[in-house]
Amino acid sequence: MNIKKNFIKVLGKKYQLDNTTEHKIWSTQVSNLEWCERYFKIMNKHPHQDETNQYVVIGNLEHAVFESFAQKTKSQWLNKGGFHESDLEKTYEIIDKIIEIELGFALENYAQFGNYIEHMIPSLKNRLRILARRQLNEAIELLKKGLSVQDITEKILPWQIERPLYSQNLRLAGRPDLIYRYNGKVIIVDLKSHNDTEDAFNHSAQHFLQLLTYSVMYEELFHEKVSEVQIFYTKNLKTSSIKVNKALKDNAVEQILKARSFSTHEDIPPKLSGDEAYKCDYCYIRERCFATEDYEPEPDDEVTFTTRGEFE
Ligand code: SF4
Repeated sequence: MNIKKNFIKVLGKKYQLDNTTEHKIWSTQVSNLEWCERYFKIMNKHPHQDETNQYVVIGNLEHAVFESFAQKTKSQWLNKGGFHESDLEKTYEIIDKIIEIELGFALENYAQFGNYIEHMIPSLKNRLRILARRQLNEAIELLKKGLSVQDITEKILPWQIERPLYSQNLRLAGRPDLIYRYNGKVIIVDLKSHNDTEDAFNHSAQHFLQLLTYSVMYEELFHEKVSEVQIFYTKNLKTSSIKVNKALKDNAVEQILKARSFSTHEDIPPKLSGDEAYKCDYCYIRERCFATEDYEPEPDDEVTFTTRGEFE
């Protein structure tokens, strides 16, 4: 492995590197390590093994529908001269069309979960209609205050959807769901489709760390600071947010370097125990984890590392 340099400078701070300089890593992997070292290792070895369970399929469907709704609403608004209550009928038609398309895709590709998918469609439609009403009411209020349609659109709807981010410096890549950029303020948002608020709460530290890694990459790419990161819960339309500061970003950089370093070792750590063991009840790969043997490599084992794409 070539080692080009033994330190890097990120956000004005110098970090010593070990021999992992050539390794690339994804924001989701940093998030996985925050949750559990064993989770990180199992996901690194077999990243796609659980991709077809019903929760992942529903999560993907919710993401696709909410993102498509944001994109279509933005196009609709930017072609308008104002906002009126009567716009809702047209928006509801757009929602129906989006759901029809994404439902068709999900059923075609994951027919085995057909009943489960179709069962959640009325709830999904209802939530999108509530969100549409909420956004339109806010737009009407802002219009009364004298904001232009352009400004209102930028304030309420995302600037970028699924924008790939990367850091050559950190050898890190990721793709946040939504980026808002209005009036000098940048907010990065990830959508989460947890059914249960306790489950969502237990995973929030890892999800916020993932968002903070996006903010580090964003700053390197765009040379402007991220003010806030948010998790938008699609099941109850609530937002959880934190203000981004230097200490949080520095910690994210340390976790990124730790994950890169950790990825070079082949061992699979033991299951969590003691105060941390509660996480196993909320873990996405619990069954797979409990069926996996602990593994400690022989000294001459080849080191492998899974990457899921190339940097731009
Ligand atoms: S089940 Fe527990 S030990 Fe296993 S990966 Fe999940 S949190 Fe870690």
